[in-house]
Amino acid sequence: MPAELIDGKAIAATIRGEIRDAVAKRTASGLRPPGLAVILVGENPASQSYVRSKGKACREAGFHSVQIDRPATITEAELLALVDECNNDAAIDGILVQLPLPRHIDESRVIDRIDPRKDVDGFHPVSVGNLVLDKPGFISCTPKGIQELLVRSGVETKGKFAVIVGRSNIVGKPMAALLMRKGRGGDATVCVCHSATPDLAAVTRQADILIAAVGRAEVIDGSMLKPGAVVIDVGINRVEDPAAAKGYRIVGDVAFDSASAVASKITPVPGGVGPMTIAMLLQNTLESAVQHDTAE
Ligand code: NDP
Repeated sequence: MPAELIDGKAIAATIRGEIRDAVAKRTASGLRPPGLAVILVGENPASQSYVRSKGKACREAGFHSVQIDRPATITEAELLALVDECNNDAAIDGILVQLPLPRHIDESRVIDRIDPRKDVDGFHPVSVGNLVLDKPGFISCTPKGIQELLVRSGVETKGKFAVIVGRSNIVGKPMAALLMRKGRGGDATVCVCHSATPDLAAVTRQADILIAAVGRAEVIDGSMLKPGAVVIDVGINRVEDPAAAKGYRIVGDVAFDSASAVASKITPVPGGVGPMTIAMLLQNTLESAVQHDTAE
């Protein structure tokens, strides 16, 4: 029997509806809408498309949404000054600097400049530290969305062996920290694999929950899975396909057909993790607005 689909698009739509209702209640009671500023540097088509989707989602949820476009020639000092402006803008609860930035700009210096109280992407060292130390703080959107997908799909994580393939700062590492936390969507035994893991399949075959964040098309197939495993595919890879309308297809890090013959549940690409990432960005921004209400 093929695996049951974990429909990230539908789950994300439900969450966005919940957020829209919460925003409507806020504004009806005289509070201002949550505000998100997205800074886009340069003309990377993928970044432009991500930023467009984020802006659209914000407007649909009733947020105050600001997109700030700057040319790739912007200096680091100018970009830092722009972040400062957003830090000081009382109508803005969340700041997102779309990555990657041009090579002449030090990404970590820019991320470090964001006020941690507005770090809705969860990339600031203070946010990462809070996550690891189990303190309240913003959690990076993709791993947070994956945890929410697991919980809302009825996947028990407690006591399960979770294998994450990939150790990046934005997916693999925070994912590991979240799954090993105590409580809802946590309490898993976690193993993180990477390019220096000698026999990847020997590890992935032990996983009750397998999270693939590799950035390589279809590197995980059914032969690398334990029967009945839950598979979360984070990857977004473009593969050339002359038969496709655009000349390419988007595929995940998991070979979907072969994996779904072995797994019990699996996320599709697209329509799995991606929509959850945006939903969690909205959720973090709403949480930030609520915190700013109490601080004002
Ligand atoms: P990175 O390139 O930063 O990290 C990839 C990780 O995979 C690295 O830790 C790397 O190991 C590891 N890796 C690479 N090749 C292998 C291999 N053959 N075997 C085992 N491990 C390997 O990617 P990201 O974490 O940023 O993103 C991963 C994927 O998720 C990408 O496709 C990206 O587009 C997608 N993504 C999707 C999002 C969404 O919203 N759906 C959000 C963010 C990312 P090492 O550290 O040793 O180099």
